[in-house]
Amino acid sequence: MSSARRVVILGATGSIGVQALDVVARSHGELEVVGLSAHSSWEALVAAARAAGVPAVALSDPDAAARAAAAWPEGEVLAGAEGVRSLISRLHPDLVLNAIVGAAGLGPTVVTLAEGIDLALANKESLVAGGELVVALAQATGAQILPVDSEHAALAQLIGPERRSAPGTIERITITASGGPFRGYSREQLADVTAEAALRHPTWSMGAKITIDSATLLNKGLELIEAHHLFEIPYERIDVLVHPQSIVHGLITLHDGGVLAHLGCPDMRVPIAFALHHPDRAELPVARLDLAQIGRLDFEEPDLDAFPALALARAAALAGGTAPCVLNAANEVAVHAFLRGEIGFPAIAAVIAEALDELGADPLREFEALFDVDRAARELAREAVARA
Ligand code: NAD
Ligand code: MG
Repeated sequence: MSSARRVVILGATGSIGVQALDVVARSHGELEVVGLSAHSSWEALVAAARAAGVPAVALSDPDAAARAAAAWPEGEVLAGAEGVRSLISRLHPDLVLNAIVGAAGLGPTVVTLAEGIDLALANKESLVAGGELVVALAQATGAQILPVDSEHAALAQLIGPERRSAPGTIERITITASGGPFRGYSREQLADVTAEAALRHPTWSMGAKITIDSATLLNKGLELIEAHHLFEIPYERIDVLVHPQSIVHGLITLHDGGVLAHLGCPDMRVPIAFALHHPDRAELPVARLDLAQIGRLDFEEPDLDAFPALALARAAALAGGTAPCVLNAANEVAVHAFLRGEIGFPAIAAVIAEALDELGADPLREFEALFDVDRAARELAREAVARA
């Protein structure tokens, strides 16, 4: 009889999904993948399912699902957003890894937590948009949210259960940012940067959307909101620190002045394995840290003048309610427009600012309203893109 932890991986063809499959393959049978999902990349999904012996997949794009079903008659293929939902609720795994990109991950986050299933969360956008509703849902069903973002996995390890129950001992928490490919650039220099240059991240290899978010520093803004919800710490006590080497992932400052930090070579398999194996740890073949060889670690304040998206995120975070959902939706539209060459780099923040100005912050009462806010913010952002 197998006592393996049964895992569903959503967004299995992406950067995080593929690395998660690697973590599972190295787990000596402790983890078993029972379902996979992707949006439209059906060939890669079927290949991954075959390679890992996974019996069921879901494709949120129905056309792609039809093709997968034809090409893979021995497997089960579910279709559409409904197919992704039923992959979770019917298989009822022990753990769902949500590695979908964007607010499209909100529905699956809600289904997972509503079912009382533990959630390994790479899809920060669902926590940013869903905020306190997502946290309340997890608390109501007893499902755990295990962060896969490297900074938050670091903080979860530093805070640990004992300090969680004594929150007064933590004065501040700090998430680090590489600063992205344009660290040190002025506003003027950023006016003409290309998508190609923005996609060249100095320390991490990731999907296109988060790579652009790292270049604008909006990613750190999303992570600020993510940290606030995960650790229930007020925004005034969460710092963002630029650290170009991406060796220190998170720090906590204690009330006796001591500071604890989590360090390691940048490799997402570390936080992925932390979440998938939690509360155990697994051995990984990642590069070991050689501080003497690295020689020095650098830190600086983020430049909010050159990278206004981070300031916009903090403002939306403080406004609360639906504002982070607007921030996220407008950013998704703007990032895709930038990737297609329709707008320049500075216009990403301008589009977000316009959507936030227009839609403000309403109280957050129910998930249904969030989907409407997301849609309204996207419409506004598309108009702003067309004018830019
Ligand atoms: P990616 O673009 O490489 O992969 C995205 C995955 O989501 C793919 O499998 C794709 O098929 C699926 N997908 C795309 N659109 C979808 C939709 N509308 N509905 C359902 N599925 C959809 O992205 P990634 O870099 O792996 O990032 C995934 C998530 O993890 C993001 O939220 C990102 O912010 C977060 N994250 C990523 C990294 C990283 O190193 N890549 C680090 C920290 C956090
Ligand atoms: Mg991160």
